[in-house]
Amino acid sequence: MLLGAPGSGKGTQAEMITRHFGIPVTSPGAILRREVELGTLLGIETAEKTKHGELVPDKIIIDLIEDWVRLHGAAGFVFDGFPRTIPQAEALQGILQRHRTPLDLALWLDVSADTIKDRILHRLQCQSCGFTTSEGAAGFSERAICPYCDGHLIRRTDDDASVLETRLSEFNSKTQPLADFYGKMSTLRKIDGNRDRDAVFADISRLIEQPA
Ligand code: AMP
Repeated sequence: MLLGAPGSGKGTQAEMITRHFGIPVTSPGAILRREVELGTLLGIETAEKTKHGELVPDKIIIDLIEDWVRLHGAAGFVFDGFPRTIPQAEALQGILQRHRTPLDLALWLDVSADTIKDRILHRLQCQSCGFTTSEGAAGFSERAICPYCDGHLIRRTDDDASVLETRLSEFNSKTQPLADFYGKMSTLRKIDGNRDRDAVFADISRLIEQPA
């Protein structure tokens, strides 16, 4: 699982892990954005929370993950942005026990406040495939088109300064305690997430190949 503040690179690293190792990834945030776009009941129910940067109720997220693990879990998994609260982490233990699947690694991407601000306020994301880049990245400033699928690169609506404040406060109060939770289970590995995506991925790859 990938844990860390907004802008710590969880989505980017999840995508690199799935491309390189072929491990299926799930991201509640990406699922919810798609549900909102499609105007489904789930999207309508959660839109107010996601729009304002608040976490959606645990029960909704746990049900999403339980369904996903039932469908894909046997092939291994990468969780991007799950769990984000202690009740979610506790529910996950039950889900994994029922599916007889161990949790190998909890990867914590450590980032500074400056990195978070810089990434979030300049982030562009592909509307079709979710590829993430920055406004300043070479080649994207004039033609905001995804290099992988030709989709439109857009700003996420929750990537704005005032919503970011709420997202950070949710992170500090509800997600930060997971560092202790997984630290006690000795599955936690902290990684310096302030570096570029390839340097971070090199560390993650080493841990995946040799988790002990
Ligand atoms: P993300 O794409 O991971 O930044 O998530 C975007 C938004 O989706 C968050 O700000 C929350 O509103 C919601 N969300 C994503 N994952 C979770 C989670 N594990 N628990 C509660 N809300 C979540």
